[in-house]
Amino acid sequence: MNDQTPITRIKGIGEKTEKLFRKLDIATVGDLIRYYPRDYEDFEEPVPISAASPGSVCAVRACVVGIPNLRQGRNLSILNVTLRDASGGMQLVFYNMPFLKSLLKSGGFYIFRGLVKTRGRTLLMEQPRLFSETDYAKLMSCIQPRYRLTKGLTNQAVQKAMKQALSFYAYETEYYPQWILERYDLESWRESLNGIHFPSDRDALARARRRLAFDEFFAFLFVLRQNKDLVKSIPNTCPIREVPETEAFLQAMPFALTRAQKRVWEEIRTDLKGPYSMNRLVQGDVGSGKTIVAVLALLACVCNGYQGAMMAPTEVLAAQHYETISQYTARYHLPFRPVLLVGSETADRKREAYARIAGGEVNLIIGTHALIQEKVVYHSLGLVVTDEQHRFGVRQREKLADKGGNPHVLVMSATPIPRTLAIILYGDLHLSVIDELPANRLPIKNCVVNTSYRPKAYEFLARQVSYGHQVYCICPMVEEGELEDVENVTDYTRKLQSALPPQITVACLHGKMRPAEKSRIMEEFAAGRIQVLVSTTVIEVGINVPNATVMMVENAERFGLAQLHQLRGRVGRGEAQSYCIFISARENKETMERLEILNKSNDGFYIASQDLRQRGPGDLFGIRQSGEFAFRIGDIYTDSLLLQQAAEAVERLLDRDPSLETPENAPLKAHLCRIGSESVDFRSI
Ligand code: ADP
Ligand code: MG
Repeated sequence: MNDQTPITRIKGIGEKTEKLFRKLDIATVGDLIRYYPRDYEDFEEPVPISAASPGSVCAVRACVVGIPNLRQGRNLSILNVTLRDASGGMQLVFYNMPFLKSLLKSGGFYIFRGLVKTRGRTLLMEQPRLFSETDYAKLMSCIQPRYRLTKGLTNQAVQKAMKQALSFYAYETEYYPQWILERYDLESWRESLNGIHFPSDRDALARARRRLAFDEFFAFLFVLRQNKDLVKSIPNTCPIREVPETEAFLQAMPFALTRAQKRVWEEIRTDLKGPYSMNRLVQGDVGSGKTIVAVLALLACVCNGYQGAMMAPTEVLAAQHYETISQYTARYHLPFRPVLLVGSETADRKREAYARIAGGEVNLIIGTHALIQEKVVYHSLGLVVTDEQHRFGVRQREKLADKGGNPHVLVMSATPIPRTLAIILYGDLHLSVIDELPANRLPIKNCVVNTSYRPKAYEFLARQVSYGHQVYCICPMVEEGELEDVENVTDYTRKLQSALPPQITVACLHGKMRPAEKSRIMEEFAAGRIQVLVSTTVIEVGINVPNATVMMVENAERFGLAQLHQLRGRVGRGEAQSYCIFISARENKETMERLEILNKSNDGFYIASQDLRQRGPGDLFGIRQSGEFAFRIGDIYTDSLLLQQAAEAVERLLDRDPSLETPENAPLKAHLCRIGSESVDFRSI
């Protein structure tokens, strides 16, 4: 088996299971072995019953006392079992599992594992898992991987397929030269793959994780380094001179720029008229006002007779930028002639837009990455702004250069990254930072609560709506999944609609909806016709509805702090007091402490750095998938040292062998070429 082998070649994967795997974007063996676990489960030593502590998951080894008692209702059967060991007794309850009555022998010893509860003074487990001694001993000897699943596909099925794939996979030869493996103390790729899926212990897991994270960083930084050399000194072929219109616009606006916004605008102006093409990143926390700075640059661009383009990661955000800029245009008589270009437009409308762009009839093109598709021919492109999440790599630059000219590039990002890391990660860009929020903002009021607070929260939402404000409510899932206690948008919308007064309109928004439908919902919300928006994190990026004052996050424990901070950034954008309600379905100490950090601070940098201290490497990775660096395993915060090592490795390698020509580096070159076209594209990072 190799990367391209279809997963149907794995024993036990038939047509039906293949479809389920496809839902997880797994079609080949290569996809499967790179499908890393979501987290791991440790099967701990069984404890005496008297040591099983309520509220935690425990395993007990005990003897069944008497005959289990079965009550058979119409839709439900309940089986009660009494357990005993030398230290005490415990009750078990099984629902709709009547067959266990004959299976569990009186006087037999078994291992039961589940969440321990109390009923009065009795200890209780509901629906515990049942193991024989030998089965349990096997589980205890290694850490069990848990995968993200889809309905119909069990964790066991994924594990089984994974085991086969890993043992029949034709591992390629190690691609790093020996000195890299030694200097950075990396285990082989083969070991790391096995170690990430089926680690023998926590140490093995940490080693596997470290190697795979290094790989990701290395490949990313390798491409970055090449870009850096390519884009460093492109001559400025579209000089953008200062024009009176930008100052006039600023004078007419209802607010003045903050000092930080002014400084960044000055840096951009200097670039635009300078000797080289601009290549600048504007970094600023959520709500720091990046859009207006981009609009100023675009205004200067069109006043110089060029076209400007603004690219957003989602259609929803593109549509919002289009609205905002159209409003500015009308209100302040700006010379923009904008057009919105998104993938979901009809072919006719797109064709019409292409013609107007090519003819120079429009001078501002706003859209998703439809903007750089082959069919778009620009008349005179002078500046490209990319908002949130999009890196602008050489490939995109080349695409634009093919269309003529070398436009200036401005990238905007809200990912809070300390400067030392930013210099590595954005090596090909100049850096500007907006480190100040507009002065008119009231600090957001936060609270972290458990699910029993919901009725109160709903009352609070209803009251905020009655004052004319709007509400976001975030759930982690789109629809019902395997996981218990995890809210999904589809059911939650219904639940909330019936819990709130009928005159309040609740709508839902998620990534699986058609783009046109998403845009429509978002427009209705922006216009105030929808008061409560139940959504997945699709709204995390960039959305600006200043009238929204409440952000309620269900299952807050499932999100990374940086991501929660981004979500919180959707409120507190106007002058009204805003609120954030983080509802946690888990009440253990660590979760509460982690969420408490958000309660204490509103500073994105601080939060990101605390996120790092709270989660040791090897913890639930993949929790932080926000921002533009969606590395699958590597985490720029917790693995910052590794990131620096990977950067050093790339430098040393290229110093020795700039074009990887020596035989020693041939496998690495082949490896980077192979993955280069897929995973190291800037759009996907
Ligand atoms: P982000 O940096 O998150 O992209 P936006 O550019 O969307 O933030 O700005 C958030 C809100 O703040 C917008 O409604 C914008 O009009 C407003 N805003 C921007 N700059 C200022 C300022 N200097 N003073 C007051 N409000 C501002
Ligand atoms: Mg923004």
